[in-house]
This record gives sequence, structure tokens and C-alpha cells, in this order.
Amino acid sequence: MTFETIGLSGELLKALADHGYTKPTPVQLQAIPLVLQGSDILAGSQTGTGKTASFMLPILQILSAKETNQNKRAIRALVLAPTRELAAQVNESVKTYGKYLPLRSSVVVGGVNIKSQAKDLRDGADILVATPGRLLDLVTQGIVHLSQVEVLVLDEADRMLDMGFIRDIRKILALLPKKRQNLLFSATFSDEIKQLADGFLKSPKMIEVTKRNTTTDLVTQVIYPVDRVKKRALLSHLISSKNSQQVLVFTRTKHGANRLAQQLCDDGISSVAIHGNKSQSARTKALADFKQGFVRVLVATDIAARGLDISQLPFVVNFELPNVPEDYVHRIGRTGRAGCTGEAASLVCIDEDKLLYDIERLLKRGLEKVVIAGFEPDPSIKAEPIPNGRMQKPQRNRPPQGNQGNRNQPNGRSSGPSRFNFRTQGKSGSR
Ligand code: AMP
Repeated sequence: MTFETIGLSGELLKALADHGYTKPTPVQLQAIPLVLQGSDILAGSQTGTGKTASFMLPILQILSAKETNQNKRAIRALVLAPTRELAAQVNESVKTYGKYLPLRSSVVVGGVNIKSQAKDLRDGADILVATPGRLLDLVTQGIVHLSQVEVLVLDEADRMLDMGFIRDIRKILALLPKKRQNLLFSATFSDEIKQLADGFLKSPKMIEVTKRNTTTDLVTQVIYPVDRVKKRALLSHLISSKNSQQVLVFTRTKHGANRLAQQLCDDGISSVAIHGNKSQSARTKALADFKQGFVRVLVATDIAARGLDISQLPFVVNFELPNVPEDYVHRIGRTGRAGCTGEAASLVCIDEDKLLYDIERLLKRGLEKVVIAGFEPDPSIKAEPIPNGRMQKPQRNRPPQGNQGNRNQPNGRSSGPSRFNFRTQGKSGSR
């Protein structure tokens, strides 16, 4: 099957050829014909599978098939995304794929001047890509009107719920015309997502490109057991010994991201941090510098990294495991994208055994453990509570997780896999 045989128009085919896409990815093969037919869609698709094009290409085709009054544009497609970066990337893809079509898109996100967005919208847009909060601000100010929306996309819906956008989403849904096409994309499926989907999708066609809550086989996943205080040194060691030139590193907190980026710089490894406390211009510059290879390491928190698309990113490191196991799937989805292989390393100290257990349970398999010579964990070290982690109160906007009591035990090892159930020094060994 080709883009041509699945029914895309000449203008789109030309733009795809310019962009070097030769054949559709599996999610595109499934989604494009269904969206073109006008079906609602519930898609379980991981990041990096080409899901943006799977909804944007048919949307561009549907909108361009109808006459556009260039002087009186109305928003006919609305894409809601959880983060500024993802919204910006979706908007970029509209420009890339729609370059031969007379359609206009605009992006509205928080953290940047609302006046310039309002000015841009005054010229009208056929497609609006937005984060929910800023969109509602603009609607309240009478700058955005949603009464002509024909297609709604909820991109990375699971993350939007994690970030506490559910009320905003419901408010936005209430502003849209009843008759419209709805497309929901999510990498993971919780009961909350199913509930949301049941509430507004009409006889949706299900697309599941990869098994739910699984990671792609293209990513080699390795756990490096290490003591908490030696993590930074191990990270520098891994980056240097692998001679990695482009590494995305995840920390749990913004402060931790800043500190780690500084420490890596002190080790002679150029690094920059990206997180929600940085201005949008600082975030954009950090990402651009990383993509262009001016800095080797981008240290990010989960929310900032969500939706980042860095083509052929070879190496992702969990400096700290995420508090929510599904975030592990999202994080390592930053590598192994669009058919390329990748490596995901997790530096795991004794405090994180329960988090690792939860991840392995979600993935339904144990992950390979490798101990690096010189970084062997000291068995006499006791687990400590994780700041801002599950040892504390549940985080804002995080749905309460089951089995909290157990997680609140500083030493949650008893129910998790044994951290000392690994072997080898310096080379791979599996448990
Ligand atoms: P996404 O899952 O939408 O974030 O896309 C992941 C990456 O795959 C992006 O860098 C896209 O540009 C790329 N991509 C999407 N579709 C294709 C395709 N058919 N062929 C090659 N690369 C693609």
C-alpha cells in the first residue's frame, strides 16, 4: 500500500514526496482511509509511529475538498494537545503536509503572549492547534469561535488527563457543534480515557497499532542498578563510553533537571535543561540547540518532554524512574521512532525498586539488568523516601494509583523484583 492507493490527493502526495516519506506507517495505513470516510476513531498509538500525519493528512484532504472563502475563514478542524511543544510540532506538520493547499493554520498555547496569538487569529484559520487552557481564554475573550468545527482531534489524550485538563476538555466539547468527526489518540488506555471516549465518540473505529501499554521492540531497554549518589557519575560514564552525541535524559523534578544539566556541563558534557519553569523562548532554543547537535544532552521533566519529536534519537536515559509507570512507556517512546532502533537506559537506585516493579508489571516482563564495574550497588544502603514521589501525598493532577499503601513504604522491595537478581560486571546479563 502507498499513500496514493490509500486515497490521498496530488497536493498531499507532492508534499510527502518533498518531505521524503516513501510509504505510510502502520497507523497511517489504518487511520487515513477511516478518517477520509468520516469515521470517529479511537487510536492506541505510541509516540513515534507517525500518528500526527495519520490524522493531519486526511484532515487536510477533507478541508481542502470543500470551497474555502479566504476572506471569511472559520476554524473547521481543532486539534487539542497537552503541551506547547506538541502543539507547535502538530502545527509544523500542518505547514509541511499542507504546503500546496490553500489552508491556514494557527497555534495557541499558554506561556506566550496572548496578544500576538489573537492578532494571528484575526486573519482567520481553518485549522487550530491548541492547548486547552489558552484556547478557553481566547474563547472567553471572544477571539476564537468554535461553532464551525467539523473535526476534533484529542492528541495524547492520556497525557491531557494526567495533566488535569479533563474539565477544560469537557468545557471545550460543550462549545463544539454536535455534528462533527472526533479522533482520539492515546498511547495508553486507562479507565478514565475509556470513559472520556464513551462520552463523545460515535461508533468509533478502533485502531491499535501496538499493544496497549507496551514498548516498541526497536528499543533496547536496560536497567543499570546503581547507588543514588553515584547516578550522575554513571550517567557521565555511559555517555562518554558509548560516545553518545545526542542523549535525552529524564529527571523527576525541574530542580533536578537544572542541577543535573549543570553537573554534566561540569563533567565536560554539554547539556541543557528543559522544563515548565523555563520561558517558552528558552525551551524552544534548548530544543533547537539539541536537535542541531550544539548540545549533547537534553535534560527534561516528563511534561516538558511530552510530544518532543527529535528524529532518530538514539539514546534515552531515565536518570530517575517516573512515579507513574505509563510515563516510562512515553519516555522511552522518544527513541526507536519511525522504524529506527534506539536504546533506553534506566539508572535505578534502591529507593526506586517499587517503581521498577510497577513498570515491569505494566510491561508484563522483566527488564535486563546490567551492573557496570565500579558502580556496583552497596547492599548495605537502605531505601529512602523519594521526594515528590509516591512516598509523599499524591501529586496534583495525578489520578490516585492503586495499592498506595504499599507504595508508601520506604522500602517497597518485598513485593517487587529483587534488585540483586542480576549478574555480570560491565557487560550485559539478563535476569
Ligand atoms: P509522530 O508519531 O507523529 O510523532 O511521528 C514520528 C516521526 O515519524 C516524525 O518525525 C515524523 O516526521 C516521522 N514520520 C511520520 N510518518 C512517516 C512516514 N510515513 N515515513 C517516514 N517518517 C514518517
